[in-house]
Amino acid sequence: MEDIKMVDLKAQYAKLKPELDAAFSAVMESMEFINGPQVSNFARSLEEYLQVRHAIPCANGTDALQIALMALQLPAGAEVIVPSFNYVSGAEVVALLGLKPVFADVLPDTFTIDPESVKKVITPATAAIIPVHLFGQGAAMQEIMEIAQEYKLYVIEDNAQSLGAVYVQPDEHEVKLGTMGHIGTTSFFPSKPLGGMGDGGAVFTNDDSLAEVIRKIANHGQSEKYKFSTIGVNSRLDTLQAAMLDVKIKYVDAYNNARQEIARFYDNAFAETSAVQAPHRSSRSSHVYHQYTITVAPALRDELKAYLRDNHIPSMVYYPEPLHLQQAYTYLGFKSGDFPVSELMSQSVLSLPMHSELKEDQLTYICQHVLDFVKNHG
Ligand SMILES: *Cc1c(COP(=O)(O)O)cnc(C)c1O
Repeated sequence: MEDIKMVDLKAQYAKLKPELDAAFSAVMESMEFINGPQVSNFARSLEEYLQVRHAIPCANGTDALQIALMALQLPAGAEVIVPSFNYVSGAEVVALLGLKPVFADVLPDTFTIDPESVKKVITPATAAIIPVHLFGQGAAMQEIMEIAQEYKLYVIEDNAQSLGAVYVQPDEHEVKLGTMGHIGTTSFFPSKPLGGMGDGGAVFTNDDSLAEVIRKIANHGQSEKYKFSTIGVNSRLDTLQAAMLDVKIKYVDAYNNARQEIARFYDNAFAETSAVQAPHRSSRSSHVYHQYTITVAPALRDELKAYLRDNHIPSMVYYPEPLHLQQAYTYLGFKSGDFPVSELMSQSVLSLPMHSELKEDQLTYICQHVLDFVKNHG
């Protein structure tokens, strides 16, 4: 059996090597490293893939969130609601821009922001919500959009982990995640569903005037050469990355489908025990399994992780500490017990190896070890 990896970028590269190497060489020969034609070509590919009017590439997924927030021109001190069980980017850029991050709890099944918790933390200063489509599956967008409409809030969808997944709207019409809110963002970090060979990100919107502002902000706030009409940032997607991504975007659906098949294998194996909770499948969103995240009793989680490691099976805890308890955010005054679901999830979750190149013998080996462990700790 081959070594088991959490993600296998090398095997993915091996399959696309001729195409990727040719795209790389084309950029090297043109020397157009900044804003080469590959950047706008990739933006068009992304717009077509997501069926969205505007996709604006930028330097990384955290910048994408920052640019999205800057484009909304919120007043200083405005409150922005973010899930506590999440990567740090959303809360970080809110704080950096002089706005106030306000945490909300998540749902115990999908781990995404809980609309009821959102309602509880809304104040007259609330200006926006950043739902995160976590681990490959959509947040409760219908409910969130209804809340946003009622309270006149902006919605920025953080779609760094779920590119390609669709949301089923009430009329049964399917739309890609990241295109329902006022703005959507994503990351092309190498391990994400569409991963580059370095950092990258993008901002999406169907709103023409927001798109214009976003484009300007991502490029120093320039309205024309050496004319700066607003304060911006330098956040460009490198031509080299755009060239790589424009090759890989053709395979996103194939990668997503392959991971869905692996998820079915895991689901079947774990169906025989109540000690392992397989990831919930929302009826409103497809799941592209950026992570395959199980939950187990908190008392068993770290021991299971160590047992798997001892048997050469990597696993990861996303995320071991909710944001409202992180040292950097203590100034906001949250305390242990404020968001019980986020706190419980951070003690219960374990993400298993998940990538398009996992083989059946590896999957059998992983499942057997997880099941053996819980049997011996029942
Ligand atoms: C990866 C990620 C980001 C940040 O993306 P970078 O490209 O690393 O800046 C933001 N939000 C979520 C949910 C992520 O998973």
